[in-house]
Amino acid sequence: MDALRQRGILDEAVLNAINAVPRHFFLDKAFEEHAYADKPFPIGNEQTISQPYTVAYMTALLEVHKGDRILEIGTGSGYQAAILAAMGARVFTVERYEALYLQAKELLSLMGMSGVRCFFRDGTKGLPEYAPYNGIIVTAGAPVVPEPLKQQLAIGGLLVIPVGEEVQYMYRYTRLSEMEFKEEMFDAFRFVPFLEGVRKSDK
Ligand code: SAH
Repeated sequence: MDALRQRGILDEAVLNAINAVPRHFFLDKAFEEHAYADKPFPIGNEQTISQPYTVAYMTALLEVHKGDRILEIGTGSGYQAAILAAMGARVFTVERYEALYLQAKELLSLMGMSGVRCFFRDGTKGLPEYAPYNGIIVTAGAPVVPEPLKQQLAIGGLLVIPVGEEVQYMYRYTRLSEMEFKEEMFDAFRFVPFLEGVRKSDK
């Protein structure tokens, strides 16, 4: 926690949520003892759980309020979704790998995280049936910002998305009106790629 504070995460609500959610639940047994190090870890299917700093950074940019409807693209381990739920958001989270979707769904339900609903989908299209959202967070590196995500924001809603190929810059779009968006750019990060289409598990 102090490590996050030292790196400039000062949002108390975000720090409290990070404190409240046991990160080791979301890691393979092999990495469990390192669960509280500020590092990413593999979660299978060549994907990673983001490092706590990145989760905290993005969550702070999203300015989550209790009762907000939040769409997450890239469920992965389910950790980011759990943090959002711990902040009182109603979370809709989408994953393109069936195996990761199934695993995260089961874990979140075992943890009693009733504020999170999981979907096996291609997140480049968003999740139109539950739109509009107060916030949308993309946890994979996008070469471009998918238009459907901007369109699924409520007026005043925020889209936080890392944009770029090798390295991504964190962007935040605020929907000012039906047609107008404010664009802000923040620090550089490195994410796994945002890919189109879904991948079913081998049976
Ligand atoms: N938020 C996750 C981070 C996982 S890494 C966590 O807290 O653990 C990013 C995830 O985005 C990966 O699981 C990857 O499979 C997923 N992803 C990439 N492209 C996607 C897409 N088009 N739709 C949905 N999920 C996608």
